Amino acid sequence: MESSQYDIAIIGGGILGLSTAMQLLERVPQWRVAVIEKEEQLATHQTGHNSGVMHSGIYYRPGSHKAQFCVAGLNNMVKFCEENEIEYRQCGKVIVALHESEFGRLDDLYQRGTANGVPDLEMVGPERLKEIEPHTAGVRALWAPHTGIVDFTKVAAAFANKFQQAGGDIFTRAAVKKIANSSGSVALETTKGTLQAKHLINCAGLYADKVAAMTGEKVGVRIIPFRGEYYTLKPESHHLVSGLIYPVPDPQFPFLGVHFTRNIKGHVEAGPNAVMALRREGYRKRDFSLGDSLGNLAYPGFWKMAMKYWKIGLGEVYRSYNRRVFLHDLQRLIPEIQNSDLDSGGSGVRAQAVARDGSLLDDFSIIQGRDAIHVLNAPSPGATSSLAIGEHIAGLAIDNFGAAA
Ligand SMILES: Cc1cc2nc3c(=O)[nH]c(=O)nc-3n(C[C@H](O)[C@H](O)[C@H](O)COP(=O)(O)OP(=O)(O)OC[C@H]3O[C@@H](n4cnc5c(N)ncnc54)[C@H](O)[C@@H]3O)c2cc1C
Repeated sequence: MESSQYDIAIIGGGILGLSTAMQLLERVPQWRVAVIEKEEQLATHQTGHNSGVMHSGIYYRPGSHKAQFCVAGLNNMVKFCEENEIEYRQCGKVIVALHESEFGRLDDLYQRGTANGVPDLEMVGPERLKEIEPHTAGVRALWAPHTGIVDFTKVAAAFANKFQQAGGDIFTRAAVKKIANSSGSVALETTKGTLQAKHLINCAGLYADKVAAMTGEKVGVRIIPFRGEYYTLKPESHHLVSGLIYPVPDPQFPFLGVHFTRNIKGHVEAGPNAVMALRREGYRKRDFSLGDSLGNLAYPGFWKMAMKYWKIGLGEVYRSYNRRVFLHDLQRLIPEIQNSDLDSGGSGVRAQAVARDGSLLDDFSIIQGRDAIHVLNAPSPGATSSLAIGEHIAGLAIDNFGAAA
């Protein structure tokens, strides 16, 4: 690593860093590109701890990055999986209204999805809903037949393979600790040695704000980790779920509400909730970091967020510690589900950027510094959108660093 000089160094070996790396070398094969990942394996954080849903693009504000990248990303992802023989399934999804009071929001979702170019959306009544998901209660539902499931870890591994075959280098167990700028080059001090690059792309997920700060960039957001906890359905209860069953989401909150997912590995998961984690990679309830917590407390946006969302936040914590409350929410979608159908499941931690005014950034945020591009907010549907986001970042890098690299 010591003597290496790269055109571009990408920090973060998750699905976004790897998609960007692969597409950079597809477009500019002569560039020397390195991916630097702190863990021993690639894709072990958000990319390896998610629901594995290829979203169709319904929820997002028309014209937003999320809307554009998700719709394009799903199409590209399906094509990529076909071409690379990665198992996926477009099993479809229902968003279920349980009460007339939710019809307005369901209609809004239909309009949004249609405006975003999501094909074949259909508003269905209770009889058709029973045909699609026989065990689901609901008075109306939005049916999105092209929503699918895949293992994003496998997709990320395929990106990494292609990148390496094109001549790219991947360094694992190399945590970036310090970044120094000096006359047209950046020196990345890592736990594996120092690497020189002309430019860098920050895809560090839960640490994206910290990495941006190492470059001296003032990004005006802080990453706050939100843990999503899952239950799994016992194998004998899998028949309760055919595909993907979601509630109508709370428009005040950027998470989708606890739902049922039949994933590509054949498990059925219930969740995830959204509880603020006390450590950036805090996968367990007891995980705590003094540094992360003090950093949150010192950030004005944290207090404003707490004032804005304290009620929803307390509800999430209460449900996290009370299996009965979790079960009750699940029973709203599938009334016959019982405590005995559930096993404890895993968890994932979302990197959610929070602005200084306390708002949770709704859209993807990708910004350009002098010698760097920073991905500051890429929660769900980031994995679905990964090919489109990588294409966008590669385009920015070529436009901005092209002449100098
Ligand atoms: C619970 C949950 C459910 C989700 N469900 C879905 C879904 O169904 N569909 C969907 O499309 N999206 C979903 N998402 C979102 C999706 O997982 C993310 O958008 C996507 O994985 C983001 O990828 P990434 O590469 O930015 O981040 P990550 O996968 O987190 O990768 C960042 C990488 O940077 C590395 N890194 C950090 N700091 C350093 C450093 N200093 N030096 C070196 N390396 C560093 C980390 O180790 C990590 O590997 C979900 C996310 C969660 C948490």
